Amino acid sequence: MKVKIDPELCTGDEICVQICPEVFEMQGDKAVVKMEEVPEDLKDSVKEAADSCPSEAIIIEE
Ligand code: SF4
Repeated sequence: MKVKIDPELCTGDEICVQICPEVFEMQGDKAVVKMEEVPEDLKDSVKEAADSCPSEAIIIEE
C-alpha cells in the first residue's frame, strides 16, 4: 500500500499527524508523508487518517 498527500488539498489541520505520526508529519503548514510505502502494521492507522482527513487530501493506492 502506498500513500501520498495532495498539497493543493491539505489544509494543515494536523489530524493525520495526530492519528498516525509514524507516517505523517508537518512540514511548514502542510502535512507530508515520511514514507511512500506503508508497512503492514501501519495500514489501518493510515486508512483511518485518510478517512478522517476533512479535505480528502490523503491518497491511498492499494
Ligand atoms: S488530515 Fe488532511 S488536511 Fe489535515 S493535515 Fe492531514 S492531509 Fe492535511
